Amino acid sequence: MPIIDRVAQMHAELTGWRRDIHAHPELGFEETRTSDFVAAKLAAFGCEVHRGLGRTGVVGTLRAGSGTRTVGLRADMDALPIEEAGTSAHRSRHPGKMHACGHDGHTTMLLGAARYLAETRNFDGTVQFIFQPAEEGLGGARAMVDDGLFEKFPCAAIFGMHNRPGLPIGQFAVRAGPMMAAGAFFDISVTGKGAHGARPETGIDPVMVAAQIAIALQSIVSRNVPPVETAVLSVTSIHGGDAYNVIPQTARLAGTARAFSREVMALIERSMRRVVKGVAEAFGATAEVDFRFLFPPTVNDAREAEFAAGICAGLVGAAKVNRNPPLLMGSEDFSLMLERVPGCYINIGNGDGEGGCEVHNPGYDFNDAALPLGVSFFARLVEARLA
Ligand SMILES: [Zn+2]
Ligand SMILES: [Zn+2]
Repeated sequence: MPIIDRVAQMHAELTGWRRDIHAHPELGFEETRTSDFVAAKLAAFGCEVHRGLGRTGVVGTLRAGSGTRTVGLRADMDALPIEEAGTSAHRSRHPGKMHACGHDGHTTMLLGAARYLAETRNFDGTVQFIFQPAEEGLGGARAMVDDGLFEKFPCAAIFGMHNRPGLPIGQFAVRAGPMMAAGAFFDISVTGKGAHGARPETGIDPVMVAAQIAIALQSIVSRNVPPVETAVLSVTSIHGGDAYNVIPQTARLAGTARAFSREVMALIERSMRRVVKGVAEAFGATAEVDFRFLFPPTVNDAREAEFAAGICAGLVGAAKVNRNPPLLMGSEDFSLMLERVPGCYINIGNGDGEGGCEVHNPGYDFNDAALPLGVSFFARLVEARLA
């Protein structure tokens, strides 16, 4: 069961759609042109189209037969605030914005599947094609879920897909259980007492306290998180003071934490609050922690991961499906949908993976050779699930 013939015939047209979306990137919750494009296509294929969920989100509903079974397929539509370095004919027309994560490809693959399934209707039940805004840290999945996505468009299971540079074209990667990390951002403000740089005894130096906190925070992953768990805590910013001879009143630290369970993330937050408060007090300063839990870990349902891997193996052969890829420390807000509905997130090979081929790099461009594979995956998944 290789790539579906009809899908292979659509390759040139799919490439045209993908490049059109690539040339017109839009940031999170600003995807008006993109969602117009998606909605018009879905309507032309014969799907029922629903707009406005999560502001710029789109849902296409397609039914066949009389069955009551359901399945959801999700793609993301947003671009990144990056100036594109590439010089292709389809390079970004919008200064400072580009599709550097391949969401143009994800949107196109899901549209291609909608078209194929609407033409063939070789299934029995309902498919929800979910086009999500604002995946890149702005909360698009949460916005759709909060707007009643799964109440209005019930899905017994949900599947999402992301391209992976470094994984060859024609290969897939999927694992049961945790796949991508939970993510949090934090800000810490330290308040001391300003003084002359030559008379520290009259003040409380928040710069020195911030430095002690930055070092002490490194004990959390090494001494508090169990060694069998995976976590990272990075202090990525320290700011304080603007003069050579002034001890400032305040200093600030910021950074990010990642882990593969909500429990470990909660442990990191608790430990951070304790360490920050204790270190600040030890030096006579005070400190406040603003810890923002952004994304839960992306956790694949074991049965659905097995099912998705089977679909991939049917397309490209079992040898080209990596069922034990490394955990990814990046985060993905599809996790919020997976917390509501069992499902699976898979990776599709995007070819070379160095430098300009990596996502979020200004030289990145989605590999159009992956399009028919992604479309075939979604199409076969629906035909198998709603057989
Ligand atoms: Zn991204
Ligand atoms: Zn992405």
